Amino acid sequence: MTIIGLDDTDSRTAGMCTTYVGHRIADELGDAGHTVDRVVLFRLNPAVEHKTRGNACVAVHTDATPHEAFRTATEIVTETAVFDDEQTNPGVAVTTDSTAPLKAFTVSTVRKLKTKAEARNALPADALTQTYGTGQGIVGATAALGAHRSRTDWTYELIAYRQQPHWGTERSVNAESVFETSKQLHPTIWDTTDSVEGDIVAVPRTPCPVLYGIRGDTPAAVKQAHDDICSEPVATTQLFQTNQGTDMHLQDASIPAVSDDSAYRLSGTVTTDPETRRGGHVFFAVSDGDSTIQCVAFEPTKRFRETVRQLRCGDVLTVCGEVSDGTVKLEKLRVEKLTTTERCVPRCPNCKNTMESAGSESGYRCRSCKTQAEGKIQQSVERQLECGWHEVPPCARRHIAKPLVRGGYQAETHPET
Ligand code: ZN
Repeated sequence: MTIIGLDDTDSRTAGMCTTYVGHRIADELGDAGHTVDRVVLFRLNPAVEHKTRGNACVAVHTDATPHEAFRTATEIVTETAVFDDEQTNPGVAVTTDSTAPLKAFTVSTVRKLKTKAEARNALPADALTQTYGTGQGIVGATAALGAHRSRTDWTYELIAYRQQPHWGTERSVNAESVFETSKQLHPTIWDTTDSVEGDIVAVPRTPCPVLYGIRGDTPAAVKQAHDDICSEPVATTQLFQTNQGTDMHLQDASIPAVSDDSAYRLSGTVTTDPETRRGGHVFFAVSDGDSTIQCVAFEPTKRFRETVRQLRCGDVLTVCGEVSDGTVKLEKLRVEKLTTTERCVPRCPNCKNTMESAGSESGYRCRSCKTQAEGKIQQSVERQLECGWHEVPPCARRHIAKPLVRGGYQAETHPET
């Protein structure tokens, strides 16, 4: 088997899309009489998106010879990639060897920032490569070669592409049909819509050739959803095997071990009450006793912030998300234990008014009744927040993040749909 690895050829400004280039390559090979076994859409470290770009790669598995596969891939990349966009630095790699070191490189590309040199070192001896621009594309292209061996839990995305004259114009997709199929096929398909925001998550807003993408657990379900959706004419479709919705980017770690640009699953106790700052972002801190880390639910995570605002000092959590600038950007969290008491200033036993501080180290007193108390008292608090897993809504979900509806969690879940 020959594997073609293709790095992110997306252009934000001109609207090209890696999945489309992958589809074109698969199509061209099919037209030439070759078998295409699968096309893999593989999400890499989401932290890369804001750094070097290239947070997705595509692999095409075919029976074409390596040279023919390489020629087809480079021709199509040259023809379609938007080289005017300086952020677009595609890479192509082709091999027939999918050995273990490649798998390890692929997994680490999902979890860390990898360099061009590291990618070159991981490439099999028989690899044919072509890079453009800065050459950064070799990282994703190499990662794509090992993608299919890097995991066993696969999900699927069916992408419907627009007819070329429509690219860049407003998309015409019947919202009712999308909400209906989303309801019918949920949770086998997920992140198609956001039922609370009323958003159609499956339809992108960028000027790319994608009309919509349906993500789900089985090829049959995503195809069914595609059949059910009414829209402008679809030019072509491609089924991708993906690592979307899997949390493959998350690593278990302790707070002192984290570093920027990787994503983690961390345990800790809330040490500062949630604070809403300018822009509507909600911050709090968790500690594991020795180390403390700041966590944030950004404004675009919408109603998830309501959950976060209910946290209190003393709550025991698992938090998940990418660390950047020393802060965990929350994707989901598990409330393991809720504190049911809080320390507060005592009330006067006589007049029931809140006492006042009697000065540092001197406790509290009631000025009118002259009663005294030694210090703060423990008082029980009512909690509305429920234990278990809470997550950001579909409209704010990263492609790689696992929606709670996919199951497999060791605790109760509160899925957002
Ligand atoms: Zn009093």
